[in-house]
Amino acid sequence: MIDCDMHRRVLRAGALAVVAFSWLASTVWSDETRRIAFSFDDAPRGNGPLLSGSERTKTLISGMARAGIDGAAFFVLTQSINQQGGGVARLRAYEEAGHMLANHTHTHPWLRHTDPAAYLADIDRATEILDGFDNVVPYFRYPYLDEGDTRDKRLAVVAGLEARGLQNAYVTVDTYDWYMQALVNEAVEAGHRMDMDRLRDVYVDVLVETIEFYDALAVETLGRHPDHVLLLHENDLAALFVEDLARVLRKDGWDIIPVAEAYADAVAGERPDTQFNGQGRIASIAHAGGASPRELVSPWEDETNLRAEFLANGLLPEEESSQ
Ligand SMILES: [Zn+2]
Repeated sequence: MIDCDMHRRVLRAGALAVVAFSWLASTVWSDETRRIAFSFDDAPRGNGPLLSGSERTKTLISGMARAGIDGAAFFVLTQSINQQGGGVARLRAYEEAGHMLANHTHTHPWLRHTDPAAYLADIDRATEILDGFDNVVPYFRYPYLDEGDTRDKRLAVVAGLEARGLQNAYVTVDTYDWYMQALVNEAVEAGHRMDMDRLRDVYVDVLVETIEFYDALAVETLGRHPDHVLLLHENDLAALFVEDLARVLRKDGWDIIPVAEAYADAVAGERPDTQFNGQGRIASIAHAGGASPRELVSPWEDETNLRAEFLANGLLPEEESSQ
C-alpha cells in the first residue's frame, strides 16, 4: 500500500510537471513562433503613381525574395489580365517566383449587389481563364470580403464553391492598405513631394498594428495564436515596402509562412454562422460568438484615422489639413 501510495504521489508529481512544462512550452511557443502568410488581391493591377504595372511586379518579386517570403498567393481579377499591358507575363512571373495564383472573380462583383447564380458564373469565367496558368490553387477570395448580406445567399454561394472544389480563401487580418494607396495617389496627383522614408514608416506601422489587433482578438476568441493570413493588395506600397514590413514582423517574433500552410490551421474548418464577414475569419468567429461589431474592427480600418495620420506625417498637401 505504501509503495502504491508513493507510486501514485510520484505519478501525480510527474503529471503536474508535465502540465507545468506544457503550459510553459505553450507560452514560450506562442510568444516566439507567431506565424503569418501574405496574400495580394486584385492582381494584375494597372500602372500606379510610383510604379508601372510591370515595374511593380518586378519590385514586389525581388522584395519578397530578399525578405524570404515564399508561397504567397495572388488573387487574380481575370478581367484585368488583358486590360493591363503585360498582364499574362506579370502573372507568369509571380508563378515562376514560386507564388500561387487563385480566383478573385472575373469582374469583382459585390455579392450583396448580385445573385448567387450570376456570382458563381463570374467565378467560373475566372476559373476558365486561370486554366491557362501553371501554379493555380483552388482558393477563392471574395471581393470586398463580402460573403453575402443574407443567410440564404451566403449558403447558396458556399454550396456553389464546394461543388466546384473551391476553398474559401479567408483572411484573418483585414487591412486598409488600399486606402493608404488611394491617399498616395491623391498626394502624387496634387504634385506633393513624398517623403518616402516617412511613407514607409507609416505604412509598416499601420499594418503591424493591424496585425497585432487581429492577433490579440484571436487570442481572446480562440485562446491561441492561429496561423494568420494577411490581406494586402498588389499595389505600389506593397511592392516598395514588403521587405520592410517583413523585417519588422520578424523582429517582433513572427515567422512568415506559405499561404497553403496557413490554410492548414483549424480556423479553416470553422463555419461561423453570421453575415459579419468583412473583417475576416477571426472577427466572424468572434461575432458569431456574440461580440459586438465595433470591437472587431481595427482603428486603422478607418479612412478618417488614416487621412489624419498621413496629414500629421506630411504625406498629403498642407491645404488638406484645413478641411
Ligand atoms: Zn479585390
